[in-house]
Amino acid sequence: MNLKELYQEIILDHGKNPRNLRKTENFNKEATGYNPLCGDKVHIYLKLNENKKVEDISFEGSGCAISMASASIMTDLIRGRNENEVNEIVKDFLYMIKEKPELSSKNLKDDEKTKLMCLSGVKQYPMRVKCATLSWHTLTSAIDNSKKEVNTEKLD
Ligand code: ZN
Repeated sequence: MNLKELYQEIILDHGKNPRNLRKTENFNKEATGYNPLCGDKVHIYLKLNENKKVEDISFEGSGCAISMASASIMTDLIRGRNENEVNEIVKDFLYMIKEKPELSSKNLKDDEKTKLMCLSGVKQYPMRVKCATLSWHTLTSAIDNSKKEVNTEKLD
């Protein structure tokens, strides 16, 4: 199996059987994201403890395989980390998906990088980049309490 096939397999797996597709009990942060170009919708629930560590993260929503796979992989990778690590990983992922060839976060292990890199194939397709980044922008918004609703057409 070559790398491209491996990446496609990971996306299909997460797209068909999304992890953490549920609502976190006693969440204390949340945000909604909407990608009108594709129709993807995602709602992120977060439970941050007093040490700003992610005790639980989950999502509800519907959309294309890319958007669901991205939310599934993201929630898996973010659980158990502290806020600084989360912000660093989000930044690294968004930079990679838009212009950088590789991830450079020291907070990610190699197998975790592979899972995120499977989304890198969207880079040539600006419409698909919005599908892949929707849940990440929504996560940032939930942590910052900056916006309750994220719209991919209204991002900078
Ligand atoms: Zn989509």
